[in-house]
Amino acid sequence: MASTGGAARNGDRKVIFDSEEAQLEFETSEGVEVVPSFDNMGLREDLLRGIYAFGFERPSAIQQRAIKPIVKRRDVIAQAQSGTGKTATFSISILQNLDIQNRETQALVLSPTRELAQQIQKVILALGDYMSVQCHACIGGTNVGEDIRKLDYGQHVVSGTPGRVLDMIKRRNLRTRNIKLLVLDEADEMLNRGFKEQIYDVYRHLPPDTQVVLLSATLPHEILEITSKFMTDPIRILVKRDELTLEGIKQFFVAVEKEEWKFDTLCDLYDTLTITQAVIFCNTKRKVDWLTEKMRQANFTVSAMHGDMPQKERDAIMKEFRNGSSRVLISTDVWARGIDVQQVSLVINYDLPNNRELYIHRIGRSGRFGRKGVAINFVKNDDIRILRDIEQYYSTQIDEMPMNVSDLI
Ligand code: ADP
Repeated sequence: MASTGGAARNGDRKVIFDSEEAQLEFETSEGVEVVPSFDNMGLREDLLRGIYAFGFERPSAIQQRAIKPIVKRRDVIAQAQSGTGKTATFSISILQNLDIQNRETQALVLSPTRELAQQIQKVILALGDYMSVQCHACIGGTNVGEDIRKLDYGQHVVSGTPGRVLDMIKRRNLRTRNIKLLVLDEADEMLNRGFKEQIYDVYRHLPPDTQVVLLSATLPHEILEITSKFMTDPIRILVKRDELTLEGIKQFFVAVEKEEWKFDTLCDLYDTLTITQAVIFCNTKRKVDWLTEKMRQANFTVSAMHGDMPQKERDAIMKEFRNGSSRVLISTDVWARGIDVQQVSLVINYDLPNNRELYIHRIGRSGRFGRKGVAINFVKNDDIRILRDIEQYYSTQIDEMPMNVSDLI
């Protein structure tokens, strides 16, 4: 749990705890209360103990606003910046509403990657440490028999990826009749082309009055529009767009005339990458493989991960990266959303991402919970336009990388 736990250790950025200040940054439905301490949320004692033991002292801005309505079983749409505690928001709410005596599944959390589903499971288990909670990560790439055995044993909460969850529901190993809450983490991704059908399919198997909670750092308009199809009078807690790029993450670009120059630029930055930990994003699996190979040939130590690798290998790479024994990770967007490794202070976009939302998610892998972060974008001449678009859309500033960039980490 070394990397997912822990209290706020702020770099030089302030974490938004202060209610009045945070108020300006959210657009919330009327009547949403702001509860500035965990003690005043009416939470069960064994859960409170778990929260404090995990190292949390005060709820973050999104936690101050969203936990109560979720616990009251309202449908909720919650948007807040990366790394500000959305996972704990829904985890605490789920735990509060569980009937522990009943080992049937009562809450289902769906997320887009296996690593994220596993990370959520660990957070729920840790926060629920004093509650004897059973929480299972139901994800693809793992042994089906083992999944069935765990589900048959009884799991209060299931955190999974849509494909395997649907499979388990259809086989009736994951019984849905007691499910009271569906959480879609990274909701915009889950309701996007790739996953939408599967999500609706899961939803159709749930009891008709199931509470639905959506969370993401990015919730484009088109996604908000379709929520009326499966949500009832949802409470909205939305961060304003120009608050999305985190104040604490400094963003830079390096102009490279040609694609071939990117490699040398990266090699020049290697010492900076290893100051703490860094993630390098490429747009394709092939490119990840190619860059990894090339870096290794040049005698640099790097790890790599993408969705075509066997799950066992993915797990091993995550473990090494989480415990800090590997420090530079090259990956695709499988790593862009939700993954929380507090030591990551640098993100490199070797390729610029394909859309505006991904940019926010990628750079949000650094600067977790108020820590310092730096994002560096490699831009070819014809990429400048895309970079300016991102800058404008999020009202942010992306300057040319200074010589002393390592001093900022
Ligand atoms: P998000 O889901 O918004 O990207 P996470 O829930 O992953 O963010 O939280 C980011 C980090 O902040 C995690 O390491 C988490 O343990 C930590 N964290 C969350 N809430 C608190 C809190 N109230 N106090 C201290 N640390 C927190």
